[in-house]
Amino acid sequence: MAESPCIFCEIVARRAPAARIYEDEAVLVFLDLFPAAPGHTLLIPKRHYENLYEADEPSLLAVTAAARHAAHALRRARSPEGLTVVQLNGAAAGQTVFHYHVHLIPRRHGDNLRSHGRVAAERGELESIAGEIAAAYPVDEAVEEA
Ligand code: AMP
Ligand code: ZN
Repeated sequence: MAESPCIFCEIVARRAPAARIYEDEAVLVFLDLFPAAPGHTLLIPKRHYENLYEADEPSLLAVTAAARHAAHALRRARSPEGLTVVQLNGAAAGQTVFHYHVHLIPRRHGDNLRSHGRVAAERGELESIAGEIAAAYPVDEAVEEA
């Protein structure tokens, strides 16, 4: 039997839905379907690598640069009090989707969040938040205003 396809590769190929925020040739930025907080954002290389050990350096650098841009856009759009950056490798570390990704999780004082949400967000709400964050690009203007 064929292995089940990687859900993040399916999103890259637009065979699965996602609330997309930004993409270029190397990276895709979209909202987590089970957000730990509103605006919970994921960054992936478009090429499939399972984890940090497998990913090549250009992909890691591209994701890191995209994380900087997304963090500024997220701050501009949503004004979180803090931002948690998480990246899990292996089931023992809590990784559940085996395509390398970085989480950006907006934080508030006292929110006591776990890095995984339990409830799927409504697609319409995700699209609306993704639109707000996308509208806060480009980053260089956001950095100047900060
Ligand atoms: P991790 O546990 O670090 O592997 O994170 C995987 C993340 O992907 C979790 O936060 C899930 O909520 C999220 N996720 C799983 N399926 C989808 C999907 N179809 N679209 C968006 N996010 C997803
Ligand atoms: Zn994949």
